[in-house]
Amino acid sequence: MEVVCLGCGDRFVRDARHKNQCYCSRKQCQRKRKALWQKQKMINDPDYRLNQKQSRARWAKEHPGYWRRYREKHPEKAERNRLLQKMRNRNRTHRETLLIAKMDASKSCTIAPFGQFYLVPTIAKMDALKVNLHFISRGYP
Ligand SMILES: [Zn+2]
Repeated sequence: MEVVCLGCGDRFVRDARHKNQCYCSRKQCQRKRKALWQKQKMINDPDYRLNQKQSRARWAKEHPGYWRRYREKHPEKAERNRLLQKMRNRNRTHRETLLIAKMDASKSCTIAPFGQFYLVPTIAKMDALKVNLHFISRGYP
């Protein structure tokens, strides 16, 4: 039976042994499938989460300076990570505040309407897009 791949959107024939197959066999689609599985596993399985944390810590200990060199080589990625961490910290700090009903919505909008911004995808894991927003006066055609 032919179905649409959730990874690439192309049609493919499902393997007869895998009746719930939603991703084709392309490498990038299998990576997406595994990444999604791992994301769900990290959310739902505390043992797996702890194991992954310990594994990452062990790897970092065995490769000292890797992340410092990575940030030096990829300043754009480092900037993006810094921005995302700020967002996570802000969300963590203000989570309870944001859940309160009847909060003044305009209070959270304190950023300038122009400048440099990152468009950060919230669903798919993809790179943030850096954009420039310019102020246009009302008289501008
Ligand atoms: Zn695919």
